[in-house]
Amino acid sequence: MSKPYAEVIGDPIAHSKSPAIHGFWLETLGIEADYRAAHVTPDGLAGYFSRRKEDPDWRGCNITIPHKQAALDHVEDRGELRASIGAINTVLRDEDGALIGTNTDAAGFYAPISGLDLEGAEVAVVGAGGAARAVLFALKRAGVAHVALFNRTPLKAAGLLAAFGLEGEALPIDTPLPPAALLVNASPLGMTGQPPLALDLDPLPDDAIVYDLVYAPLETDLLRAARERGLVTVDGLEMLIGQAAVAFELFFGRPAPRDGDAALREMLIR
Ligand code: NAP
Repeated sequence: MSKPYAEVIGDPIAHSKSPAIHGFWLETLGIEADYRAAHVTPDGLAGYFSRRKEDPDWRGCNITIPHKQAALDHVEDRGELRASIGAINTVLRDEDGALIGTNTDAAGFYAPISGLDLEGAEVAVVGAGGAARAVLFALKRAGVAHVALFNRTPLKAAGLLAAFGLEGEALPIDTPLPPAALLVNASPLGMTGQPPLALDLDPLPDDAIVYDLVYAPLETDLLRAARERGLVTVDGLEMLIGQAAVAFELFFGRPAPRDGDAALREMLIR
């Protein structure tokens, strides 16, 4: 008998941690379903969606590089994500059979810091790519007052601030940090094989939070420096697991069992 399933699509796809995360939760909850990885090339994207739309066992998919923008052309964009985050990372089928695109990255980013009061806060963000868009979307909703957006190409950062209607400034990465309540690295700097992110954390107040979206390595130089200064840190696995948890509930109708996060994190870094 066939089983319900969801999957992650991308090109390449072998590196994805999504099957391990969703598989862990399916097993924990004893849900009879699968979560797979499917290699879908850009040329195959339209065919993929038209086939899956007709497959009664398919619950939906997560989307990774390079399809996060292109997939918008194949789904209904009911949340007007094209005009905001500019990308989707999850597709579902509604009860009428229509494919709906959504994005769980912003919610996944925000979940670990949802207890903070960021209303009127000054924050600093590094990067102006797809990840930064999800971060800025969430920070705008949280009511931040001022964003120092650091990027190799400040012009691109200025465009992003304007697109989200955020007050702030676009700055080159070697500019000193402001006394921000929250610092987010949404660039690949500090990731294995990438140049380091060399920031002097001294201007941050003692209660600042430093959040690095990079999760390989899990403790980046940025997080180590923040920890050594006694600042609270959030690592990239928090967002990775957070965005997956939102998608899991949409696919399988039950909340992800987050009380098992310690064991899940252990498994993911092994
Ligand atoms: P991306 O498109 O590769 O990154 C774009 C941004 O990084 C741009 O601002 C770009 O600057 C800057 N950048 C790239 N290489 C650089 C370099 N060598 N020097 C200086 N700046 C550089 O990636 P993304 O999709 O936005 O993701 C960014 C990071 O977040 C990645 O490490 C990714 O793994 C991580 N991420 C984590 C999660 C999670 O769940 N934890 C989710 C999404 C992404 P320019 O504008 O000047 O080109």
